[in-house]
Amino acid sequence: MDLNQRYRSFVLAIAQNPGIKNLVLTRGRNFARRFIAGDTLEEALRVVETLERDKVHAILDLLGEMVTSEAQAQQFKTEIVRLVQEFGARPYPKYIALKLTQLGLDLSEDLAYSLMVEILAEARKVDCFVRIDMEDSPRVDATLRVYRRLHEAGFDHTGVVLQSYLKRTEQDLQNLLPLKTPVRIVKGAYKEPAEVAFQDKRMVDAQFVVLCKKALENGLYTAIASHDPYILEEMKRWTAEKGIGRDRFEFQLLYGVRRDEQKKLAAEGYTVRAYVPYGTDWYPYFSRRIAERPENLLFVARSLIQG
Ligand SMILES: Cc1cc2nc3c(=O)[nH]c(=O)nc-3n(C[C@H](O)[C@H](O)[C@H](O)COP(=O)(O)OP(=O)(O)OC[C@H]3O[C@@H](n4cnc5c(N)ncnc54)[C@H](O)[C@@H]3O)c2cc1C
Repeated sequence: MDLNQRYRSFVLAIAQNPGIKNLVLTRGRNFARRFIAGDTLEEALRVVETLERDKVHAILDLLGEMVTSEAQAQQFKTEIVRLVQEFGARPYPKYIALKLTQLGLDLSEDLAYSLMVEILAEARKVDCFVRIDMEDSPRVDATLRVYRRLHEAGFDHTGVVLQSYLKRTEQDLQNLLPLKTPVRIVKGAYKEPAEVAFQDKRMVDAQFVVLCKKALENGLYTAIASHDPYILEEMKRWTAEKGIGRDRFEFQLLYGVRRDEQKKLAAEGYTVRAYVPYGTDWYPYFSRRIAERPENLLFVARSLIQG
């Protein structure tokens, strides 16, 4: 395991500690706001307006995952439908993201599927794309199965995420090619064991590029979701060299990360979207962001000390 992976595993493990969680929830809020638009949809919509001024579009995400009751899943569905309707009334490109465990995937695949159908029906009315985020490896099969059912039911304004750190992903991409699935390629944000995931960051980075190129060569609309300067440059260079039009891919980055790069890419004429999370259930998302970059841990520690 290389140093980057060790650091990520360490942070994701200590983030499970109830004492740490409590401390961060009470005192780390200010720093968390760097990555999270706010507690409410209204705050998130204000962020959308700000981004749009720089020609950066938004992917709105109501934070929440791993619900443990059907009532919670239904509640999230209701709130996501409200998100689609409110976002739908704005004059901007509409795009949301969600997690299937937010819709009860761990309780029942049928439940997650049926709630997705309701959300997608609403999203279709306002021309809103719905991205299904990818969670940890034990949930990949179920996520892909639900996506496949939605595709077979005729929903084409949805797609999945593929993680380059997973050894299985090249095969998963291969299986999705005939479906022409819109894909988002990411490196992967969870703590995964060596049996399923590459532990060497160079391997994860190299696979990322391989997957993007394979998706694009096979005509899949591809969201290249990374802040990695090498990856961004390489994908710009390669798409230009191959004559792959800018209408066939886009760059996606996280709200609060490399904002200047987001603006720059948009000014260069690429489609750019920022993933904008909001809501009160921000701790798991925030932990993953800290686990991505050692400097972030120092900022959190400082904000905990300063209160
Ligand atoms: C739009 C979007 C959607 C995503 N969806 C998913 C998903 O569904 N499932 C999933 O597992 N993962 C998802 N991720 C997270 C992804 O897997 C990576 O963990 C994350 O993007 C960091 O990897 P990187 O490609 O930016 O490269 P890295 O090599 O990790 O980072 C490259 C550089 O980017 C900057 N950077 C990266 N992360 C941070 C940060 N947190 N804070 C400050 N600077 C940072 C740093 O300058 C760093 O040197 C998503 C990422 C994006 C951008």
